[in-house]
Amino acid sequence: MANRTLTEQIDSLLPQTQCQACHYKDCLSYASAIANHDEATNLCQPGGPRTYRAIEQLKPTNSPCPPEPTAKHIAVIQDDYCVGCLKCIKACPVDAIFGSQGKLHTVISDICTGCNLCVEPCPTDCIEMVAVPATTTTSAVDNKTRYLNKKSRLVEKNKTKKDQHKLAKLSRKSYSKTQEARLNYILNVCCDES
Ligand code: SF4
Ligand code: SF4
Ligand code: SF4
Repeated sequence: MANRTLTEQIDSLLPQTQCQACHYKDCLSYASAIANHDEATNLCQPGGPRTYRAIEQLKPTNSPCPPEPTAKHIAVIQDDYCVGCLKCIKACPVDAIFGSQGKLHTVISDICTGCNLCVEPCPTDCIEMVAVPATTTTSAVDNKTRYLNKKSRLVEKNKTKKDQHKLAKLSRKSYSKTQEARLNYILNVCCDES
């Protein structure tokens, strides 16, 4: 695409695991920091030297080359200790965990990027990161699609919550107005009769 912004071009080189190892909230934020604020190009750990070199072609910063990424891991939930609290589902940026309140949760190993973000929130410490062969990779395009889908689902959910809250407020208001009208009516009748 001819007129992609530098941020978009850099973003397209990133692995899209949204793992926050670069200390940005997601890959796009890191890409934007490189493009617009001269951030170092060597902070993407899963991308390693390959991603670093590709970014340096677009935006040379002379940052030192980072080490090779560590072996690929994926999350595995130990069934006996899962209490179904949903915390890992909320933390997973790419929807790689399924389960419902109070029920055993499971990691979908094919789409787990190994980002580690579900481990810390688990109250029973039942998520283990297990090494898998280096060939077990997820595609950046799929990672990004899943991340964006999750984001837009959450936006919709929040919007619905806000709408419900507004409706509840409105109906409370109209209820109290009705009460007020009734009271005024009774008072008027009483005054007329006295
Ligand atoms: S994949 Fe790289 S750029 Fe994306 S959040 Fe992780 S460390 Fe940052
Ligand atoms: S299951 Fe855990 S490690 Fe795997 S992608 Fe989701 S948050 Fe990351
Ligand atoms: S955070 Fe831990 S205990 Fe809670 S649902 Fe996930 S795996 Fe189970």
